[in-house]
Amino acid sequence: MRQNLRTLRKKLDDAISVIGSALPSDLSRQLSRVHHGYDSANTECSGFCGTAHIVINLCTFMHLSSSPDLFFELAKTVLHELAHFVDNNQSGHGPRWRHIYDGLTLLVWKATSAVPS
Ligand SMILES: [Zn+2]
Repeated sequence: MRQNLRTLRKKLDDAISVIGSALPSDLSRQLSRVHHGYDSANTECSGFCGTAHIVINLCTFMHLSSSPDLFFELAKTVLHELAHFVDNNQSGHGPRWRHIYDGLTLLVWKATSAVPS
């Protein structure tokens, strides 16, 4: 389990780094709010966004620790929670949040894929 957790922590740092290099500096600065967490009593929650901090619950990713999908799933969760932060936690998962999430995801996708923009 210790090795799996070490892998998860490294992959989360990698995901934050890739996202940070893809976003404009005002948004990438907000990634310093992202913290590693491990809450085995709250396994239905992969991430949490408060007013100052975003916590990624690594416990919910343990089953993916050796999966090629791990990086993608962690990156999606960071972007999900970052969208809540940018939205000031105002609109749940409504259209405004979705628009922010899609915009962040598109920025990362464009920066990390070989698809011409
Ligand atoms: Zn959410």
